[in-house]
Amino acid sequence: MSTSVASTPVVEFDAVSKTYPGGVAAVRDVSLRIGRGELVGVVGPSGSGKSSMLHLMGSLDRPSAGRVLVDGYDVAKLSDREVSALRATRIGFVFQQFHLAVGVPVLDSVADGLLYTGMPMRRRRARAASALSRVGLSHRVRHLPHQLSGGERQRVAVARAVVGEPSVLLADEPTGNLDSVSGAAVLELLRELHAAGTTVVVITHDLEIAGQLPRRIEMRDGRLINDTLQNTGTSSSSSSSTTIGAHR
Ligand code: ADP
Ligand code: MG
Repeated sequence: MSTSVASTPVVEFDAVSKTYPGGVAAVRDVSLRIGRGELVGVVGPSGSGKSSMLHLMGSLDRPSAGRVLVDGYDVAKLSDREVSALRATRIGFVFQQFHLAVGVPVLDSVADGLLYTGMPMRRRRARAASALSRVGLSHRVRHLPHQLSGGERQRVAVARAVVGEPSVLLADEPTGNLDSVSGAAVLELLRELHAAGTTVVVITHDLEIAGQLPRRIEMRDGRLINDTLQNTGTSSSSSSSTTIGAHR
């Protein structure tokens, strides 16, 4: 678990394509590197391949062509068991639909994010309580999902995603189901996590949100058509932004 070094990109795509059965080319020949500690927005119209790309980054899916590396591990070379372990220990997901288990108290939902560690329940709950405090929900730990607002539910989902201190937090339209105030609060939370060292990749179709992010990757018809990091004239491998706050 300590094989990665600060200079290894958290995510690396090397000429990655994804064609779904039926022939839809959702991702076409995309190459990119995301360094430790970055905050990256992925933008583009609906159907441009953003979610497909995030699934590939999160090892939820395998590429049809090209190479995907997470923390330096070539996902295609891992067994199913190893991919599951990689996902459990190094990747945190947040989706538009929250995905919190019905009837499960908030504290346990977040503690379940640590099941793979084999930690005793007491310790998982203690870690969960501290993650919930990080997202400002210490006063809601005994609540059930249906007793929370949308914004609170999404903050629980973020707490669950980061409780295991993953290498990267992948968020697919995390503000898509929220009113603008709650959405702004969730985005602010992602910024705080980034400031504290977490690598964050967030898909958004909200150009106002995207405009505030330090790096934006723009997708169109499955292709990466613009990467603001490339525009600065600094190569992604040597950019200082890849090492700032690099402790995860
Ligand atoms: P975005 O997130 O930018 O809206 P997606 O990655 O979800 O885009 O989809 C990109 C393209 O791939 C779309 O044309 C979509 O219909 C297609 N697609 C996405 N998932 C699947 C799938 N599981 N099977 C077949 N086609 C898919
Ligand atoms: Mg999508």
